[in-house]
Amino acid sequence: MSMPPASPDLSNFWMPFTANRQFKAAPRMFKAAKGMYYTTVDDRTVLDATAGLWCVNAGHGRSEITKAVAEQLDTMDFAPTFQMGHPLAFEAATKVAELMPAGLDRIFFTNSGSESVDTALKIALAYHRARGEGQRTRFIGRERGYHGVGFGGISVGGIAANRKTFSGNLMPHVDHLPHTLNIAEAGFTRGQPTWGAHLADELERLVALHDASTIAAVIVEPLAGSTGVLVPPKGYLERLRELCTKHGILLIFDEVITGFGRLGAPTASAYFGVTPDLLTMAKAINNAAVPMGAVAASRAVHDAVINAGAANAIEFFHGYTYTAHPAAAAAAIATLDIYKRDRLFERAKELSGAFEDAVHELRGAAHVKDIRNLGLVAGVELELRAGAPGARAYDVFLKCFEAGVLVRYTGDILAFSPPLIIEERQIEQIFSTVRDALRSVA
Ligand code: PMP
Repeated sequence: MSMPPASPDLSNFWMPFTANRQFKAAPRMFKAAKGMYYTTVDDRTVLDATAGLWCVNAGHGRSEITKAVAEQLDTMDFAPTFQMGHPLAFEAATKVAELMPAGLDRIFFTNSGSESVDTALKIALAYHRARGEGQRTRFIGRERGYHGVGFGGISVGGIAANRKTFSGNLMPHVDHLPHTLNIAEAGFTRGQPTWGAHLADELERLVALHDASTIAAVIVEPLAGSTGVLVPPKGYLERLRELCTKHGILLIFDEVITGFGRLGAPTASAYFGVTPDLLTMAKAINNAAVPMGAVAASRAVHDAVINAGAANAIEFFHGYTYTAHPAAAAAAIATLDIYKRDRLFERAKELSGAFEDAVHELRGAAHVKDIRNLGLVAGVELELRAGAPGARAYDVFLKCFEAGVLVRYTGDILAFSPPLIIEERQIEQIFSTVRDALRSVA
């Protein structure tokens, strides 16, 4: 096997969501990964408290997945799924469907979370049009929502930094619900806050403003991850569901992070007992071994679109060259088998108490402003360093990396989402490293 050069030329790779100049002045690189650990190019071991980017739920380097992908590429590298098929595409869809809430068992494959979101938005429009309600074109997203980086995703998303450069070209007819974070009312909450269910009623205000007959769908992350772990208040998602049903609006849950065990259940929908009409996923669907995403649609949505036209007509003009790519499908099948065999979702649930206790022990540590958690995900919000948003969290991230723990930071929030195979001693290591790092930064 050829190893990458020890010091590659850094100029050609334009890095995503990265301060390129800062990074390239002092690069950090991994060269290997196994289980809970990365190895850096200078042979240091780093504990992965982020499951890569919230995606390697079964831990790194699972040989069953590697083997399945290698064998598949050897047998058949690629096959189209436009007007053709291959058995693994259907088998993977069936396995994914088994993990979805009842009735959400029609699976459209994509290659990423961003593509899943755009696909779900398009399915919502196709559904209403198929039913003769083509005037329902408006989408309702939420402040601080992250739905990837497609034009659809940044439009329904609620992150100013991701939108401002493109502000003249965002999708029209989009409005936003308020986000649900309120540190003053519900700071340091363990699990779901009891404050905030009423914020779902803001949807009634938007319905009154725009009229229900113009609204296609509401899209939210049931638990918002990327913008700093915002746990839904008790009753909030239930209320959103109720209002969407009442007004004929589709409800889309973006479960790109929460899907496949992160909360100790197959989906957040299952965890919260609230079923959307469309559910987007990616990341842990195949342990991030090969890019893959998907949208699960309810039978009602699927059937309306599929049965609208003549039987020999293409029903939905949408898809990707790599939809259900054989390697990605093989990885998904192997991954979903691991989740089941190793009971990893149950394991996440069993560990969530120890994880919660460990993260909340940071209460009172230097600079800590709020702590939020659910399942195996947690956010620690830091006090802003005057005039330098994000700088303190960046410093903590660097200190942790130097001390052998990979954490993620977003703005002034540290985020934790370890692989579901984590052990209690590793949970302790993560948060004691963070505590030391907090102490050592200004
Ligand atoms: N939706 C959510 C909720 C996400 O967390 C992410 C990625 N963090 C995306 C969509 C986009 O996924 P991708 O980066 O695979 O396009």
